[in-house]
Amino acid sequence: MSESCIFCNWVNGKQKAAQTVYEDESILVVLCDSPVAKGHTLVILKTHKCDLASVEIKDAAHLGEVVARNFERHKTGIEARKCIRCSCG
Ligand SMILES: [Zn+2]
Repeated sequence: MSESCIFCNWVNGKQKAAQTVYEDESILVVLCDSPVAKGHTLVILKTHKCDLASVEIKDAAHLGEVVARNFERHKTGIEARKCIRCSCG
């Protein structure tokens, strides 16, 4: 966890994230508060990572599963047309 990381601050509640659309023990999914497209969504690992290369395989697999599971529901629910953006926290 990094105190200067906005994703960590969203995860630990120090800063209010935009609308949460999904959360489990290791991932937080929120709508972006400065969207570049309708439905711009951030998928955040709850453990701080500086880049995708430092994400463990099991966490990357779970992240991919969450994106795939939520994408169709998200796309249908708000009529988003593009993919969900991913970021590590
Ligand atoms: Zn972080």
